[in-house]
Amino acid sequence: MNRLRLDFGGGSLVALIFLAGAVWWHPAVAVAATAPQPRQEVTPHDSDSPPGQTDVYVVKPGDTLFAISNQFGITVDRLAAANNIDDPAVIEVGQRLIIPPAAEPEQYLHHRVQPGETLHALALRYGLAILELAEPNHLIRVDGLFPGQGVTIQDHTDEPAVLRGQSHTVSRTDTLVALAARHGLHPWALATANNQESPFIAWINSHLWLPGEEGEYLDWPSPFSGVRMHPIPPDQGQTLSIQISLTLPVSITGSFMGAQLPFFQQPGGAGALVGIDALAQTGTHTLVVTATVGDGGYTRYTQQVPIVASEYSTETIVVSEQVAAIMTPETVQSETALLEQLFAPHSLLQMWDGCFALPAHGDVTSAFGTRRSYNIPDASAYHTGTDFGLSVGTPVHAPADGVVVLSEPLTVRGNAIIIDHGWGVLTGYWHLSASHVIAGDSVVQGQHIGDIGNTGLSTGPHLHWEMRIGGVPVDGLQWISEQFP
Ligand SMILES: [Zn+2]
Repeated sequence: MNRLRLDFGGGSLVALIFLAGAVWWHPAVAVAATAPQPRQEVTPHDSDSPPGQTDVYVVKPGDTLFAISNQFGITVDRLAAANNIDDPAVIEVGQRLIIPPAAEPEQYLHHRVQPGETLHALALRYGLAILELAEPNHLIRVDGLFPGQGVTIQDHTDEPAVLRGQSHTVSRTDTLVALAARHGLHPWALATANNQESPFIAWINSHLWLPGEEGEYLDWPSPFSGVRMHPIPPDQGQTLSIQISLTLPVSITGSFMGAQLPFFQQPGGAGALVGIDALAQTGTHTLVVTATVGDGGYTRYTQQVPIVASEYSTETIVVSEQVAAIMTPETVQSETALLEQLFAPHSLLQMWDGCFALPAHGDVTSAFGTRRSYNIPDASAYHTGTDFGLSVGTPVHAPADGVVVLSEPLTVRGNAIIIDHGWGVLTGYWHLSASHVIAGDSVVQGQHIGDIGNTGLSTGPHLHWEMRIGGVPVDGLQWISEQFP
């Protein structure tokens, strides 16, 4: 009973300290667990083995025992026991793991975490103490869940009913009795609903479920009423859209992976687009969003977001001695600096609408993100755009509405055009034989802006199409099939 008292015991700190002593630490929680197409010998879905028989899994870089057990829907303990592993933190790349058949199916449920679901909310939903949920899943941080993560719910066979009501963060002046009165609830009913033994204790900053009819209860701290992200999880080199719903007009700031997020006002909330670097560290990163009200009071929402490795190929590019002679480090660096300046702005207006169209219809001769080595110093370590192989003179079309911010010859990129589409989304077109626009022109989707060429550092006629979000090169092809924001 003593343990159960701690689960609601206000919060983060108490639960954290207790958990720290209770379970071991898993450093890289579940990178592979949420990969859309796990790359492995067997998966829980395509295994040919009849039920009850064992599979073998070969450990990949970045795997953790936790992530692997998640993929196969078994507990870490079961996986460790089947492989005689004493310390679950130590597994080696290439190690062959026996995947035991899942435990009796009626003994547990596998739950996919939704945005806004916290340990607190999950525990309430399944009628468990936080520790009863945290211990078997080896979860150590109370704010450590991330969308898409798999959590094993023991001793449950059916999905419980969705909880209805709202979330409330206990303030300095709150009492449970007053809160209950304000929301038409009995104080003891409110305490019981929150696994609390008494209505006379309210822990500051702890989260309460206020049962009601208002809609599905998720653990949003007011004034947040929803956070949507897509895609989840994002891959290296992809664009991540973050949409915040708010119950009050407040100002929103945020940060992710060490960079400030530019939030743009939208009806009922705010949105931001994040360019995930093609070389970004995989694993979970903390998204922090802060809502500040007029009097300076603020609410902070944090969410773990996993970044998944993209599979990139590699290529070596050898340019002729004459070309290499022009590409001095000074030339390359000054052009890079010019582009960084041009790609940096976060224009407030969203000029595009819907999906982008392809700027040219040709074979992709070099994909975004391809790791590259050049015989030129200071050249990019990876391909920052998509190359379409087409003959000189083939028309290039604007993929979406925008404003031209550059149309001029550059040394490395040849005849170049850059279009600003707003919200920090810009696209570039390199190596053109001709440009039909000038800086300042407004362009519309499908407009003929230039012709394919072989100018600048180019080893044959092609269009290099580049997209940057907030200055970070991303895969533009994602925008052909997905709508942003
Ligand atoms: Zn290219």
